Amino acid sequence: MNKKIFAANWKMYLNSNESREFMLKVNANKDLFSEFDIMIFPSHTAISIVQDLAKEFDNIKIGMQDCDVLTSGAVTGSNSITSHKVDSCIVGHSERRTIFNENDELIKKKLNNCLDKIGSAILCVGETLDEKEEKKTFEVIKKQLSILPDQIRGKNLDIAYEPVWAIGTGLVASKQYIEDVLSYINNLIKELYSVEDRPNIRLFYGGSVDENSVEELSSIALLDGFLIGSASADFEKFKNMLNKMR
Ligand code: PEP
Repeated sequence: MNKKIFAANWKMYLNSNESREFMLKVNANKDLFSEFDIMIFPSHTAISIVQDLAKEFDNIKIGMQDCDVLTSGAVTGSNSITSHKVDSCIVGHSERRTIFNENDELIKKKLNNCLDKIGSAILCVGETLDEKEEKKTFEVIKKQLSILPDQIRGKNLDIAYEPVWAIGTGLVASKQYIEDVLSYINNLIKELYSVEDRPNIRLFYGGSVDENSVEELSSIALLDGFLIGSASADFEKFKNMLNKMR
């Protein structure tokens, strides 16, 4: 079983001080936190604080939780992919799709900006409970992935399968269910890209992952990593997840 990547989406859970406190604890547990590939997505205001406190860790990458569709200009209160120097950026998160009414067309522009400007992005896809019950999961995912660029050569594209009904609900998709969806995504990717491109694409699962589910889900062969929300913003829970996977 290969070691999985832990991508921490801190959403709006931690303010700058709390992010600093979290990172001080990471530094105090350097051995454990050095063993894994970790990505942290803090609030925009905490990005530089977290970057500074991750300086000693080659294995910790820092990203943005979202970016504006424009790369600069008169957009009060917004952050573009070039506003911060980051390693990755999440686009298409279900909270952006629902709370901010983001559609595939807008997400496509954001994705392309991220790939063009920093050469990396995490695209989130996943069905709602209604869509799952109507057996439309594959159809929804196919549509959400139809925005993928024709070429990704040299760029890092992470695709996070995050069923909306599992995000923040405590409900984790079953191993079999995730395997089926990832295998569907893997086949779509194979149709779209050449074999040389495949190593630049990584597949993640997100949706209520915590210390109780991480071990079982880690045996999913197609899975490269986890995108974790609430459990990743709680230092003890994050530490427990890593300890389970040591
Ligand atoms: C997420 O928001 O990407 C997520 C997976 O959240 P949670 O782990 O809290 O379900």
